[in-house]
Amino acid sequence: MSEASETLFSKIVRREIPADIVYEDELAIAFRDINAQAPVHILVIPKKPIPKLSDAEPDDGALLGHLLLTVQRVAAQEGLTRGYRTVINTGEDGGQTVHHLHLHILGGRAMKWPPG
Ligand code: AMP
Repeated sequence: MSEASETLFSKIVRREIPADIVYEDELAIAFRDINAQAPVHILVIPKKPIPKLSDAEPDDGALLGHLLLTVQRVAAQEGLTRGYRTVINTGEDGGQTVHHLHLHILGGRAMKWPPG
């Protein structure tokens, strides 16, 4: 089993632990972050257990595109008409804590730049 198949996000995909799921299709699932950093904070993840962005392979191109379109869809569903921030933390210096690829959607307030 790969590194990501044992994470708590894979357990959310398999419904082994609860989550506030806001969207799901055959390739992806989106749920609210348990420690929200903005009024809207949602994680979009592939069901396929890719540990981090740098582990994705050329064959994953369509899946990565699908994840971005899922971000767009979920943001619209959440009414984020003023915009939102999409973040992918990768590896130790990227601040990644869960080793299953995930796209953060942060919205409902104006974001600052640069990030910490
Ligand atoms: P990262 O630091 O980019 O790896 O992001 C991991 C995110 O997962 C953090 O924002 C956590 O708050 C969030 N998180 C951890 N456990 C859960 C959980 N059980 N349900 C929802 N979000 C979670």
